[in-house]
Amino acid sequence: MTELYDLHCHSNASDGTLSPTELVLRAHQQGVTSLALTDHDTTAGLPEAQLCAEATGIKLIPGIELSTNWQDKCFHIVGLGIDPAYLPLSEATHNLQSTRLERAEKIALKLEKKRIPGAFEAVKKAAGEGMITRTHFADFLLSQNHVSTQQEAFDRYLGKGKAAYVSTSWAELELAISWITGAGGVAVLAHPLRYKLTANWMKRLLTVFKDAGGQGIEVITSRINADEIRMAAAYATRFELAGSMGSDFHNVSNQWVELGRLAPLPQNIKPVWELLG
Ligand code: AMP
Ligand code: MN
Ligand code: MN
Ligand code: MN
Repeated sequence: MTELYDLHCHSNASDGTLSPTELVLRAHQQGVTSLALTDHDTTAGLPEAQLCAEATGIKLIPGIELSTNWQDKCFHIVGLGIDPAYLPLSEATHNLQSTRLERAEKIALKLEKKRIPGAFEAVKKAAGEGMITRTHFADFLLSQNHVSTQQEAFDRYLGKGKAAYVSTSWAELELAISWITGAGGVAVLAHPLRYKLTANWMKRLLTVFKDAGGQGIEVITSRINADEIRMAAAYATRFELAGSMGSDFHNVSNQWVELGRLAPLPQNIKPVWELLG
């Protein structure tokens, strides 16, 4: 059987729309043989995903996507092969749930000032037991016809510096990496080209990332072109990082993003799954 890895995706434990079970089943249908569930700041979807993975014969890699800060910017670090019971990590996710709840209240207040009431109740209901994210706010704004696309919700309200933006203090990058490595996992810099850093800043980031114990970088993501793959692969080579691949799948309505629908990892890049026990 051909191995197909997808090491980055979301369930409704954070801002995905599928339940962990639905997600694993869909990944299996798409031919994925190893799937990492990497919800934002939570591991709550893992037990259900694991049960379904055992039933379908797909390999589930326990994961997380941590929101972190470095130099006052937000970076996403994917942890792969983590033990969710590792206390510093489980305490962190517990605290992050409160951080996200308080942030949601502040976002909702800002929306109220723009004469958009009811957001807090709506996102809390939509997120249920899961993490509240800006995606939930985007969907709320969409459902109330304040915007006509998710993108517009970020451009007009939720993006950095926009009317309902709330700056959040996440864990420092080095600390978040220590939670992942302490939990026996491999830390991977998610979607490196999305931060729009200059080569010089990228060098500084990757130096700090490696010094803190980071071992991987996403080389293959959804909608990446050949030039971008070359650029991400060059960072992997230059900083001796293993390469990861993940769709960052969230929902079935984005036609550009599908579980397992990914370009192959370039031959000269060490696959991150070789580091997973
Ligand atoms: P949060 O972690 O709550 O700040 O939410 C971040 C999530 O919002 C990301 O993981 C994406 O899923 C989504 N997101 C961020 N920027 C955009 C955008 N411009 N368009 C659509 N979704 C976005
Ligand atoms: Mn997301
Ligand atoms: Mn991300
Ligand atoms: Mn993601």
